[in-house]
Amino acid sequence: MKTAIASLLSSTEVSRISFVFGPVSVLSHDFAAVATAVRSGDLAVEIDPGFLGAIDGTAAYDQDLNAFVFSSALQLGGDSLTSIGMSAFVVHEAVHAISDRKAAAVSIQMDEGAAYVATVWYMLERGVVDLSNSDAPEADRPLLEAVDAMRKRALDGTVPVSATDSEVKAVVGYVLNQPRYRTPGVYEYNGW
Ligand SMILES: [Zn+2]
Repeated sequence: MKTAIASLLSSTEVSRISFVFGPVSVLSHDFAAVATAVRSGDLAVEIDPGFLGAIDGTAAYDQDLNAFVFSSALQLGGDSLTSIGMSAFVVHEAVHAISDRKAAAVSIQMDEGAAYVATVWYMLERGVVDLSNSDAPEADRPLLEAVDAMRKRALDGTVPVSATDSEVKAVVGYVLNQPRYRTPGVYEYNGW
């Protein structure tokens, strides 16, 4: 599983994700650094359904253990939306690992926002989000449209892309729709 996660995070699709979201920057080489750390064991990969049950999550990054935590062995990559979805979760958690590497102190809303930008960007790279014919819930559309616009600027050659104020607002709106992120707070990362 370690190898699968490292190869996902050093894949071409992930290397195209490069952006600045307010105080959080998530660049191609940051994902590569996380992949290297997973390979070397500086970042651990653990399966701990109890931990995830307690936080009601599918995947997590634990900054104290410097570990990715999953509820079960992941089926990554592949063609099915489920396995692409699981890969997208890994990309999301990798953003938290990137902020931890920088020992950043960043508001929960901005760090989660950056993580969701990366999640959606990865799904756009995999071609599983079609905005012209979207089955996505209406509430998700501002998030999808904001990330689609950011990715298009990257394709036009602007790398890294900076999220505009209205893109930040759309993404943070999505984050705040989730009860678990509604309480204001700061992630005080401690480095690895
Ligand atoms: Zn998160």
